[in-house]
Amino acid sequence: MQFTKDGELSLQPEGTVCDLSIIAPMYNEQNNIDYFFEKLLPILNNLNMSYEIICINDGSTDNTLEELLKFRQDNPFIKIINFSRNFGKEIALTAGLRYSRGQAMIPIDADLQDPPELIERLIAKWRENYDVVYAVRETRHGETLMKRLTANLFYRFINCFSETPIPKNTGDFRLLDRRVVEVLNHIPERTRFMKGLFAWVGFRQTGISFERQPRHLGTTKWSFWKLWNFALDGITLFSTAGLKFWSYVGIVISMLSFAYALFLISLVLFFGRDVPGYASIMVAILFLGGLQLISLGILGEYLGRVYAEVKHRPLYIISDSYGFEDSETK
Ligand code: UDP
Ligand code: MG
Repeated sequence: MQFTKDGELSLQPEGTVCDLSIIAPMYNEQNNIDYFFEKLLPILNNLNMSYEIICINDGSTDNTLEELLKFRQDNPFIKIINFSRNFGKEIALTAGLRYSRGQAMIPIDADLQDPPELIERLIAKWRENYDVVYAVRETRHGETLMKRLTANLFYRFINCFSETPIPKNTGDFRLLDRRVVEVLNHIPERTRFMKGLFAWVGFRQTGISFERQPRHLGTTKWSFWKLWNFALDGITLFSTAGLKFWSYVGIVISMLSFAYALFLISLVLFFGRDVPGYASIMVAILFLGGLQLISLGILGEYLGRVYAEVKHRPLYIISDSYGFEDSETK
């Protein structure tokens, strides 16, 4: 294995080496790997296309890597990128796209929530000359009401404010043409919100719908907190509405306060009443204080992301890789 000086793998040969690259990020999926390949491989073999499967082990603490290596022994077209720690799914996908060598790429979840049977349909659309074919979830089996509700809210909110609408109920499961991947690989953004980027690049896009299945084994890797931060990433990265919003709130509040001040002054002028005024002062102070804290917090959300961008840290650190020297495909 060879590393270039910025810690990236150096790939040989350059350019495409096969028709299709499957990209599977995996975080503690040791129990799903068997079933994953068992379902995926026959489908790929039926396609009459050359392919590679890039598995990114995203710092799993279980035996995901050992399981993958076991499969690789018989199937050298399974390539493995082993991260030095958990970097998150978005980053794992970014690395997968970076090192894929196919004419088309399909990111897929290892828990089989994205049915491999759909790959054929994705490819059929791609052959109709679409550059991006995304899979839209008709139903979300095995997901809590809370998750469905919040997902819905999120899409509403982001599509109100974002400059490039994100198709509702799409995941990362989709087909990307090589030229889209090339563009994505050259986007230097550090905080990756792949769904947003996929939509942002444009090109000819279309969707096909499917029924999302419950997870095969194990539990979701997304806690409420992780999802919340993910949603914040999406909103702050794809719109500056959060920043602009507060100037308007400020203007409205100032105008209301001004009117209220006029009212108070006229009370004193015309009636000469010395109102105790404790309540109104407290309300004004607390309300404005709260408002200021919220707007500071929002500034902080954006600033934090700007900070992450300017630090220019590498997106991920690869500790080992298997199969990239020889670019074996099937
Ligand atoms: N995943 C990952 N890194 C993480 C979290 C998840 O690579 O930090 C992978 C995970 O192994 C799975 C896919 O991303 O293949 C989707 O994760 P999950 O099923 O937990 O998400 P959900 O389907 O609940 O959105
Ligand atoms: Mg899942």
